Amino acid sequence: MEWLIPRILSSLLWVLLTGSAGLWLGNLYGLPGVGALIGSALGVLLHSVVDAARAERLVQWLRGKQVNSAPRAGEFWGEVGYRVERSVRRLERSVIDENEKLAQFLSAIEASPNGVMLLDAGDQIEWCNSEAADHFGLDPRRDKRQRVTNLVRAPAFVAYLQRGAFEEAVVFPGPGSRGSVSVLVRRYGQGMKLVLSQDVTERERNDAMRRDFVANVSHEIRTPLTVLGGFIETMVNLQLSDAERRRVMELMAQQTVRMQSLVGDLLTLAQLEGSPRPTADRWVDVARLFLQVQADAQALSAGRHQLLFNAPVDVQLAGAEVELISAVVNLVTNAVRYTPAGGSVTVSWLNRSDGSGEIDVQDDGPGIAREHLPRLTERFYRVDGSRSRDTGGTGLGLSIVKHVMLRHGGELEVLSEVGKGSTFKLQFPSSRVRSSASLAAHAATVPATLAATLAATHAATQAATPAAILAATPTQAEGANVLSAPAQNPTAQNAPVFNATR
Ligand code: ADP
Repeated sequence: MEWLIPRILSSLLWVLLTGSAGLWLGNLYGLPGVGALIGSALGVLLHSVVDAARAERLVQWLRGKQVNSAPRAGEFWGEVGYRVERSVRRLERSVIDENEKLAQFLSAIEASPNGVMLLDAGDQIEWCNSEAADHFGLDPRRDKRQRVTNLVRAPAFVAYLQRGAFEEAVVFPGPGSRGSVSVLVRRYGQGMKLVLSQDVTERERNDAMRRDFVANVSHEIRTPLTVLGGFIETMVNLQLSDAERRRVMELMAQQTVRMQSLVGDLLTLAQLEGSPRPTADRWVDVARLFLQVQADAQALSAGRHQLLFNAPVDVQLAGAEVELISAVVNLVTNAVRYTPAGGSVTVSWLNRSDGSGEIDVQDDGPGIAREHLPRLTERFYRVDGSRSRDTGGTGLGLSIVKHVMLRHGGELEVLSEVGKGSTFKLQFPSSRVRSSASLAAHAATVPATLAATLAATHAATQAATPAAILAATPTQAEGANVLSAPAQNPTAQNAPVFNATR
């Protein structure tokens, strides 16, 4: 209001001035009253024109982009310009702030691992993040303001949206080769919809795997149970001779052992999955490991195979000894079980130049056809089911080996060719392998003399090695870095390779 009094006063002063000028001029012509009136009228007119011009300048500024300052001429219009500009600037600032907040909010939703899409009351796309675009096969820019039901080619989703019952999520196949997408809709505002989508391919696959697993375990256990049930029934209903009874008992014992092996392998798998990864600070002597495996292999083979264990004298592996032994035992028992009598099984250690190393289990058995290689480590996968069961296999051995290798940061590689044999390679990263060089560096911290320990282990290895080792070349007999080089391996040349842990 402080501008009102000066404005009235200045208007009055202006009219007074122009009226006085008119009076003076009117006096010259003897018409002072008319002169004063005309002067005052002209003053009012001039004042109004100046006022209108200033108002027009302000209106022009308002019509424009308000980049420059508002016109400040004149007491009244200057004040109006200043106040209007201040409001405009405040509004601009709050729009910028709101836009920044919106951008932050949208980029937070954009970063979400789930899909988010906003639909208006007519199911037209208001906005969607790139995950949602991926799930529905949309283009976030091009498809904006398009009706989503015209774009998404998933009948289940379209029917779900049209039905309008959004209590439960709907799952449908994603676009292209994408797996399954789960969608949940929530209403908000005036008929708007928030569409939340999630890629559930992995979950669906896990569910299917779990179902298959339970079905497989049930099947594996039902077979020996049925056999046992049949024998029990036979023994109850029939009068058996002593010899027959003994035979039935033997067969029942076989089925019991089969179930025990199955339960044992299932427990091993469960333990491997449920326990933390083995740390890299416990070192297992590879020669000692070979020695333990060798005893099992000899017992299983019962002299039917030529077993060759090329144990290194100075190599250690970091990890859980029980798991490492279990992995190698599984491979060696497979080699013995699947290789016909008279065949040979060779277990070797291979030092690689980059410090990594591998345990190779090679046999000259029947080999495995290429198409089976990628599936070998699946639970209960068998190339020849009856042969596996007849020799006491559970179908879980290679699955256990794969888990052990993953837990040790290593890989299982399989080379095999039908009729030529197989080589299973347990490849360990350099961080989990140490040999003489690094051992020497640590010698000062080792309390017992390492050389004596290694020599004793090596001697024990040699003592337990079959005659085949004694007949081997001097280098092999020494045991140091005795390698089954890939080029010498019948299964290595042109043989299909499968890396089970990649
Ligand atoms: P299983 O208990 O049946 O041996 P595994 O998981 O150990 O189960 O092995 C999976 C399948 O791989 C076996 O059923 C067998 O057909 C095949 N297999 C494994 N090792 C060999 C091998 N050394 N030679 C030939 N086939 C093998």
